[in-house]
Amino acid sequence: MSTIASSATAVERRATEQFDETVARLKDYLSYAAISCDPSHFDDVHRLAERIRDDLSALGLDNARLLHLEGTLPCVAAEWLHADPSAPTVLIYGHLDLQPVKGEPWRTDPHEGVELDGRLYARGSADDMGGWVSHLAAIRAWLEESGGLPCNLKLLIEGEEEIGSPNLERYMDTFPEAFSSDVMVLTDCENPSVDIPGLTVSLRGLMELELAVEALDADGHSGLWGNMVPDVSVALCRLIARLTDEDGRLKVGRVEDIDDDWRRDSWDVPLNAEIIRDGAHIIDGVDPLPTHGRSPAEWLWRQPSLTVVATTLPTAETKKNALRTKATATLSVRLAPGQEADELRDAITEVVTTNPPGGVKVTVSPTGWDGESWLYTPRGPAFEAADRAYERVWGRKLLQVGVGGSIPFVALFGRKYGDLPLILNGVMDPKTTAHGPNESMHLGIFGKAIRANVWLYEELGALPRDTLAVSPA
Ligand SMILES: [Zn+2]
Repeated sequence: MSTIASSATAVERRATEQFDETVARLKDYLSYAAISCDPSHFDDVHRLAERIRDDLSALGLDNARLLHLEGTLPCVAAEWLHADPSAPTVLIYGHLDLQPVKGEPWRTDPHEGVELDGRLYARGSADDMGGWVSHLAAIRAWLEESGGLPCNLKLLIEGEEEIGSPNLERYMDTFPEAFSSDVMVLTDCENPSVDIPGLTVSLRGLMELELAVEALDADGHSGLWGNMVPDVSVALCRLIARLTDEDGRLKVGRVEDIDDDWRRDSWDVPLNAEIIRDGAHIIDGVDPLPTHGRSPAEWLWRQPSLTVVATTLPTAETKKNALRTKATATLSVRLAPGQEADELRDAITEVVTTNPPGGVKVTVSPTGWDGESWLYTPRGPAFEAADRAYERVWGRKLLQVGVGGSIPFVALFGRKYGDLPLILNGVMDPKTTAHGPNESMHLGIFGKAIRANVWLYEELGALPRDTLAVSPA
């Protein structure tokens, strides 16, 4: 035990000594405008993928290759499988592609890594290049310091995450050997602060509904008919109001069955009024909604919510003194993790179609926009190992966090590999502004992530592979 620990300590030291070289490598990758939604940048995606493949090979990984399916952008894969066969195989997943930058007010060149005040600015710095490069750094330090890794390891770096991973499941089915493993470490998630490492365990789902109200088959004179004929605009607003409480939150489908320990820990998430005000750009004189005894984390990650994203109410351009035939609102509903879309849709439909105001005709129809939710209970030795690794480097265990939005690849991994330990973390923090202008990564987080990875491999490598499977929540 002591020789292993001292060797991991030496690896950690070497990784720290190599930090500047790691940042230089990262800056090189960030200079590729690998934007996956823009065909004029597909060539950059390909060039970066080839570059990474060659680097993985030079690092000492085996079988570094591009996986490719017709009509898709490639994945990069590589492996190192020379640890004891009883040791687990750890899959590291990340993505190399970027969000576009068009029209955004950047202070620096978005495709050049620039260090400012302890942060590295560039599109993709934290989402997600820093995430998986933190693993390359740990792998390199292990191989150079001790000539091997304490666990078997596979790397899979996707080229289409930022367009919603439309082909990732096909890659999983076509190249199962590139994914098969005992533990998966998925980068691309957030830390709640620069001092608190995060473990993502839930996503909200997404369901979009069109709520339509009809009363007339032709517009009618409001002076002649007002007071005896329903106004569809008012009826629509009253129906939306029915779905919400006095604060404007969705009150249908609220979830009460939430783990007590999770509820207690959720108050540790640093989401106070100031952070919410700042992050969401709330104007002076307006406050975040009252919490009513539930933590902000619970409201954001574990409760369903409603946003009106479009309407066909009369606009300033179409103003006239008339009662209208029809009004619609598109309701974007975030589903609580694990909540069934059909059940919530039925509950919403029941509320708006029962005794509608003025007897108007009400219909609710799905628009087809949706996203899977995910709820995961991390348990078993792999998570205890991760906690030990993080505690050693960060001084505290991983805090379980959620994501209020949908991330297709996470839901997909959860569906396909939910019986494996899925460790979702990354190098983002609340100041990262992923997908926005001036994206950046905190270099202190990056350093801690690299060192924690060194210990994560060490801790996971000490576990017999046949003890790791978990039963899904
Ligand atoms: Zn990402």
